[in-house]
Amino acid sequence: MSQTFEYLLRSLFVRCSYVGLDCNCIIFGMNEKEVMDETILHMFEYHAINPEEMTSEMKSKIRKNIHLYRNSLRAQILRDIPDVSAMLLPIV
Ligand SMILES: [Zn+2]
Repeated sequence: MSQTFEYLLRSLFVRCSYVGLDCNCIIFGMNEKEVMDETILHMFEYHAINPEEMTSEMKSKIRKNIHLYRNSLRAQILRDIPDVSAMLLPIV
């Protein structure tokens, strides 16, 4: 298993679109704070939203939409392959 894959499995993410922006970006981090910081940076770099302009409502929206990447992968796999072998379930 590559390091990148392990990293992905343990990481958290937020989709920019979940926060209400018309954007396909997914922001990753190893913990909630890292995702928050990266998202705030992304908002600034890609959407010209200054960190100072960010309302606490917006920040809590980000926080609420941070998910474990592993869970989202599992949901995606189960949706795309509904008859995924029971033997595979422990690893997805
Ligand atoms: Zn974005």
